[in-house]
Amino acid sequence: MIIGAGIVGLSHAEEAVRAGMTVAVVERSSRQVGASIRNFGHICLTPQSGPAKELTEQSRQRWLRMSQAAGFWLRESGTTIVAKRAEELAVLTEYVDSGGDPGRAVLLDADQVLQRAPVDPGGVLGGAFLPYDLQVDPREAGPAVSRWLATQGVDFYWRTAALGIETGVVHTGRGSLRAGRIVVATHYDIDELFPAIAEQAGIVRCRLHMARVAADLRGPLATPLFTGWSLLRYSGFTATSAATALRDRLASERPDALALDLNQMYTQRPDGSLIIGDTHLREVDAPPFQSEEGFELLLELTRALFGVPLRVLERWQGIYASSPGQEFVVAEPMPGVQVVVVTTGIGMTIGPGLPRLVFDGSSR
Ligand SMILES: Cc1cc2nc3c(=O)[nH]c(=O)nc-3n(C[C@H](O)[C@H](O)[C@H](O)COP(=O)(O)OP(=O)(O)OC[C@H]3O[C@@H](n4cnc5c(N)ncnc54)[C@H](O)[C@@H]3O)c2cc1C
Repeated sequence: MIIGAGIVGLSHAEEAVRAGMTVAVVERSSRQVGASIRNFGHICLTPQSGPAKELTEQSRQRWLRMSQAAGFWLRESGTTIVAKRAEELAVLTEYVDSGGDPGRAVLLDADQVLQRAPVDPGGVLGGAFLPYDLQVDPREAGPAVSRWLATQGVDFYWRTAALGIETGVVHTGRGSLRAGRIVVATHYDIDELFPAIAEQAGIVRCRLHMARVAADLRGPLATPLFTGWSLLRYSGFTATSAATALRDRLASERPDALALDLNQMYTQRPDGSLIIGDTHLREVDAPPFQSEEGFELLLELTRALFGVPLRVLERWQGIYASSPGQEFVVAEPMPGVQVVVVTTGIGMTIGPGLPRLVFDGSSR
């Protein structure tokens, strides 16, 4: 029995079905509404490191398999990174030259960046391309997986909240359900069912400004697009010695953006609209009020980068679990009950890589 129908829960359901288990998913909402549909759909495998990196191959395979079986849009797009500052090029050069991932990161000159990303050519120095990465449409992928799993015999209990869990039993608002094995994938709401695990791991809620805009771009955005701000985020880039100088430069140029913990990045949905984001604010709770400042910053930087007017179609607040010092938490609070939470903004990237680790202790 899996609790939570986000990408982490659904990936565990898929693994369990493949292993021949009888599977049910308990989800408190009537459909997916969590982080798994609010994100960029960027499967950012390349610049991970450490234990997260070990999950990426398994995750990539699961995404490709699920897309084929469930019939949702996925492209083997890679990721493009645009550099407009010498410090950004220095991080990328060091990262590519470090050779940790042969063939999975190449430097681009300015023309090659412009072939992949319809940004304003002014000030583009070059960039990099990460061919191994993937892109999905987050609004389509999870729902397609749950529909497909239902055809494979998985029982879905929608609008059914898990209220308490013991070995072999899930107590829900609709009565108790029995299961030999229980996986709890309720993301940041793990503090409702297992507050001690959340407190011990320091899990809090990280809130993000996100928007979808219409824009008459110079051409299609063929891949997810990172900027220099993204190089301060993903562990493969932050491990470079050049990252410190980049951080100093961005901090002196845009202290307002640094204060909002900006990651300026983009993906284009199949309908042509652009998902833009994001900012980060960490607290135990997730109050509903979002400052307009974050949206203004995103729109200002997006107009400047692409050099075209924008029309906002939607704004939303994304929330993900955040914990200092670890990118995911796997715990067994009682026999036969496993908790799995991705504790930074890479659950689409590593979530589908976690089931093997959770079920049999192997990430391969
Ligand atoms: C704005 C934003 C952008 C992001 N961009 C990216 C990206 O581009 N690439 C990337 O790799 N990652 C990204 N992430 C992170 C990624 O989206 C998350 O790490 C991932 O979706 C977490 O998946 P999940 O299944 O654990 O959580 P969720 O998708 O949040 O699902 C948890 C589910 O559990 C259910 N639930 C909770 N409590 C109960 C209960 N008691 N009973 C029953 N059901 C319950 C909830 O209703 C929910 O459906 C982003 C996140 C955000 C917010």
